[in-house]
Amino acid sequence: VVDLSGVSKSYGDLAALRSADLVIHHGELLAVVGPSGSGKSTLLNIMGTLDRPSEGKVRIGGHDIDELRDRDLSALRAATIGFVFQQFHLAPGIPALDSVADGLLYSGRPRAERRELAERALRRVGLGLRLYHEPHQLSGGEKQRVAIARAVLGDPPLLLADEPTGALDSRSGAVVMELLHELQEAGTTVVVITHDRDIAALLPREVRLKDGRIEHDSAVGAAAGELTATGSTR
Ligand code: ATP
Ligand code: MG
Repeated sequence: VVDLSGVSKSYGDLAALRSADLVIHHGELLAVVGPSGSGKSTLLNIMGTLDRPSEGKVRIGGHDIDELRDRDLSALRAATIGFVFQQFHLAPGIPALDSVADGLLYSGRPRAERRELAERALRRVGLGLRLYHEPHQLSGGEKQRVAIARAVLGDPPLLLADEPTGALDSRSGAVVMELLHELQEAGTTVVVITHDRDIAALLPREVRLKDGRIEHDSAVGAAAGELTATGSTR
């Protein structure tokens, strides 16, 4: 689903990401961990095609993004990727069902269909009984689940979550993580950025970033530095 090869991203003379190699297969669930400023969000934004790399190859769903113009890239993103962010900005005073249905506002689908799909997505995240609740009537964990319902509305094959549990207590965080596991079981590829080592430890794969480098990838089994030390170039 995702194939990054030698990907770097610089902001001025700051190297936020340095020659990252990362392959993520269909149906994986993995954690990206690392200290603040290590490049986690930068990596996620590149995987999410919100940002283009300064160097290297990015392939998403088999497409080389270098070969796509911005509007084709937007179309690919809309069809392929759902995003969940740490700060779930739900509009105040808007019922959950409308918040989610609005995610399809520009899809060309009629209103009744948008609402039906939104209702299905909310049921999927366990909020079938909260369809008409407004943000101030929902707990933090429930709001985050509304945001996830919105992200999975069009059933994207790839879900990217940047600190989805960062603003939650550990119990609501656990519910959100359980939901992400369920989405994976249903076939979605899920990438979760987290500061929380306990959460990362529960996921099948962990990618550790440090100073913009992939320091460790449990799927590769050795630190990038160790590979270089033994003379391998990749
Ligand atoms: P955190 O855990 O605090 O969210 P992070 O690992 O997500 O950190 P990034 O947001 O990827 O870190 O940032 C990596 C580095 O790139 C940081 O030093 C940051 O200041 C810098 N950076 C990120 N985005 C930009 C930008 N748009 N312009 C300039 N510098 C940026
Ligand atoms: Mg970040």
